[in-house]
Amino acid sequence: MSDNCIFCKIVSGAVPSTKIYEDNDVIAFNDIRPSASVHFLIVPKLHIDSLASCENEHQALLGKMLLLAPKLAKQQGLAGFKTLINTGVEGGQEVFHIHVHVMGGGDKSRNN
Ligand code: 5GP
Ligand code: ZN
Repeated sequence: MSDNCIFCKIVSGAVPSTKIYEDNDVIAFNDIRPSASVHFLIVPKLHIDSLASCENEHQALLGKMLLLAPKLAKQQGLAGFKTLINTGVEGGQEVFHIHVHVMGGGDKSRNN
């Protein structure tokens, strides 16, 4: 748990989310500003700032997150999907708690 981290607050339940999956290690919930008809985030319960902060000890967790993507995408009705991990400010990362975006079902324009 990292203070003032929005995703840690979602993990703890302090901030609500539209959860689509949860186990001991990860949660997945719909992005609040979707850029596709289906757009959810796969988030580890452990706070890790970004992909650039990952160490060898996180290998299994990262693998678990990626292996979940096709399973959850299928459950959400997607035949195919895009994945995205923004890393660092210059990589477009806004929330510094590592997450995998999963998007599909057609683009939505974003007003931001
Ligand atoms: P990043 O740019 O860090 O890869 O993506 C962060 C994503 O988190 C953005 O797509 C943004 O819409 C989403 N997001 C930010 N705050 C919240 C929130 O409070 N709830 C949910 N469900 N998504 C959020
Ligand atoms: Zn966090």
